[in-house]
Amino acid sequence: MLETRNLKKVYKTKKGVSVTALNDVSIKFPEKGLVFLLGKSGSGKSTLLNLLGGLDKYDEGEIIIKGVSSKDFKQSHFDSYRNTYVGFIFQEYNVLEEFSVGANIALAIELQGKKATDEEINSILKQVDLEGFGDRKPNELSGGQKQRVAIARALVKQPEIIMADEPTGALDSNTGRQVFETLKNLSKDKLVIVVSHDREFAEQFGDRIIELADGNVIDDVTRKVGYEKQGEELNNGISFENDTMTIKSGYHLTEEDRERINQYIDGIGTDLKAVIKKADRGSFQQTNEEDIVHKKGDFKLIKSKLPLKNAFKIGASGLKHKKIRLVVTILLSFVAFSLFALADTFGNYNHIKTCTNSIKDTNITYASVIKSLKIGSGMNAYWNDYGNSIREDEITKLNKDTGLDFTGVVVTNQDMVLPNYNKEVELTKNGDMCHYATDFSGYANLTEAKIKEMGYKIVAGKLPKDNNEIAISSYVYETYAKAGYISEDGTKSEIKYYNDLVGKKLKIDKKEFTIVGIVDTKVDMDRYKSISEDSKGKSSAQNLTDFALSQELSHIQEYSLACDIFVSEEMLNSIKEEYPNYVQLINNYMYVSSDDTYIDSSRIASLSEIDTKDVTWVDGEKTKLADNEIIIDINALSKNDEEGYSYSKKEALKILKDSQYTLDYYINDEDKSINGVKVVGVLNADGKADKYSDLYVLPDSLYNLKWTEGKGEYSYAVATMPTNKADIEKLVKYCYTEQGNMKYQIENSVTFELDTVNEVLKVMSKVFLYIGIGFAVFAMIMLSNFIATSISYKKQEIGILRAIGARSNDVFRIFFLESFIIAMINFVLSTIGTGVATAIINGMFRKKAGILITILNFGPRQILLLLVISIGVAAVASFIPVYKIASKKPIEAIRNR
Ligand code: ADP
Ligand code: MG
Repeated sequence: MLETRNLKKVYKTKKGVSVTALNDVSIKFPEKGLVFLLGKSGSGKSTLLNLLGGLDKYDEGEIIIKGVSSKDFKQSHFDSYRNTYVGFIFQEYNVLEEFSVGANIALAIELQGKKATDEEINSILKQVDLEGFGDRKPNELSGGQKQRVAIARALVKQPEIIMADEPTGALDSNTGRQVFETLKNLSKDKLVIVVSHDREFAEQFGDRIIELADGNVIDDVTRKVGYEKQGEELNNGISFENDTMTIKSGYHLTEEDRERINQYIDGIGTDLKAVIKKADRGSFQQTNEEDIVHKKGDFKLIKSKLPLKNAFKIGASGLKHKKIRLVVTILLSFVAFSLFALADTFGNYNHIKTCTNSIKDTNITYASVIKSLKIGSGMNAYWNDYGNSIREDEITKLNKDTGLDFTGVVVTNQDMVLPNYNKEVELTKNGDMCHYATDFSGYANLTEAKIKEMGYKIVAGKLPKDNNEIAISSYVYETYAKAGYISEDGTKSEIKYYNDLVGKKLKIDKKEFTIVGIVDTKVDMDRYKSISEDSKGKSSAQNLTDFALSQELSHIQEYSLACDIFVSEEMLNSIKEEYPNYVQLINNYMYVSSDDTYIDSSRIASLSEIDTKDVTWVDGEKTKLADNEIIIDINALSKNDEEGYSYSKKEALKILKDSQYTLDYYINDEDKSINGVKVVGVLNADGKADKYSDLYVLPDSLYNLKWTEGKGEYSYAVATMPTNKADIEKLVKYCYTEQGNMKYQIENSVTFELDTVNEVLKVMSKVFLYIGIGFAVFAMIMLSNFIATSISYKKQEIGILRAIGARSNDVFRIFFLESFIIAMINFVLSTIGTGVATAIINGMFRKKAGILITILNFGPRQILLLLVISIGVAAVASFIPVYKIASKKPIEAIRNR
């Protein structure tokens, strides 16, 4: 089945000298039998064997395997051929030290894609006299035993050819003999090609001896027919023929031999001639290759496939050798990866995510929105969130869009300072900063259903029903509990329980209300207590925290329901009527001036929106305003060049009667003006400054221009913040989505802080992204260095695997698995590391600096990123060194140890 034709191999040394190792060698091998390749060192024996085994490439000629020429073979074909047909045995045994004897043998079978059974392995071990050695490790075996393991490994594949390169070279002669005996036995039904320089062994055991010198076949002899028996018996060192006993030279008789000889002597009954001689050269004759007939067999190659389990084992074993290096590599790349992920949590700064996480982490319980309008267009556009009020229909839409239940809060321009508490009692020792409520913020109507919906609770009394009834929050109650209550007639009373305040009267602005109930709106007073403590003696960190806390609280006071006055629906409606929310001139302005006086107000209304009974007419009552007629707030009339000068009613009316004004206004990026404007009436002429303050009442022609956007009845709307992160995110997203030229802006301490630092965070995130990339590159270099060293440690194992049939693919597998293991360790460590670091850093910002923003947002993105980069880095880092060794010729891999 095996034949070489004109095989030539020339080595080029590094110095450029060519060495012809094989020169035109043509040999037709028999189907079975023990063939010796004999010759002096350097004669080309190994070269020939390596070529026959496909471990090396020839330069000219061809090898015929089962009638198929190797001319069109690639290296992978040779690998498969070796895997399928050849069992290779080396002088240096080349067993895998990591694997037990049994596993070494099993691997050879598994490379053929078959399963190794224990029975099979045991029976093979028995054949090589190693029964029961399956679980031993190679380093517990002697040289001869190791070589027999190598033979067993070669045998177990049931190859048709066994090749052995000086298999006894490292063994003493007795052990060597045993190995030859084993090979001789095997050669009964397969071709065994053995390289040896020992002529004696060759003549004793060989069926054919091919002698090489300088790359040429110089002799080729085959044992004569009829001499096989002698040869075979000589194997045992003693042979008997008639009355002649022949003992091989150098052979030592064993106890068994002695018995055999005695038996023989007893059997023949004559004198015995004993000859000690060398094996007879005369038993060989020139080989006639024409006598060799090759059976036609079908040629089929099995591609090797290193089982994952084994690849894993070899890969993992690599890690064992370089423990310190491994630990250092993993530590450093773990740190690099974690820093990378940390940088990414920051580099991937996302306003909505950050906002969501911050709200969740700060435990903000109220979801308040105000209306924000986009002013101007293009580059000059900006968002104005001041004074735009929300209409009833917009609340309905908000509820529909967000799935939450918003309550509108009416804020009037009344004096809303908390009344009727004892101002002599000190609420704070810290100047302006105070954790008690000192002002009401607005009016809201709460139903029991809503209280339940918001998770609030009526802790005393009931909800207001009548127009003079109100309920307050438990947070406002605390002010009275601390300072005590003073009635309008000056009677002081101590407030100890919620019920102590029920029934008490509060005079808010000019109206007197009776407190009928107290609602707990969930303000955590304890959290803010430190604000009111004397700042002297506080650390600067504590001062910073207190400042942040007071910011937080002021948002709660201003935008949650904590400082609201709860009134009945009817009462709320009458307040809405009494204090209509007139259009604020925010992005626009209106300025009215004459030679002596000017009027500068910021709100506008039409005549139909005010009660004409409140107007003091300058020149007779009007039911309609002409295009050049306006009504003003008398308090807004000022003398040119003299700030703060206010006119009496009489003076004002006289001036207005005699004056003509120019009205300048700015709308839609344009300045306009109207001349000859008359002020026909004044508001607040009775001396009080209330709902009409700062108001122009305009003719319809002016009022109906496009500035009515800001008009509505509620200053802000409050719902309960969802507890679920996804719902919070939904709300946050909604609030940052522009709807035309408006959006609802979510208002709390977190968004306040975030909006302040948003731009800074954006820039910093870019910087961090680059830092992160730097770390990733660093980790990659570390890892590839590690893999490269790991490969150099494993070169021999790779060579062995190649020799027994593994392809370069299998080599790839091993190292990718090794890298993969490191990658996974890295991934797990750095995921944990990043998670912990994130928590610590966020916690530090929150606790130590009082910053409510969850700066680092570690989530699925970073985990995925870490996974991808861990595996990616491992793959990239191992590819080049692995590719280098995997694409080597097997013989180079074996030699390169
Ligand atoms: P043997 O096995 O009979 O001792 P080899 O087949 O190993 O001989 O070597 C045959 C000749 O080729 C020798 O002269 C040896 O120096 C040369 N040779 C073998 N391998 C190489 C190699 N890789 N590079 C250069 N020369 C080599
Ligand atoms: Mg050699």
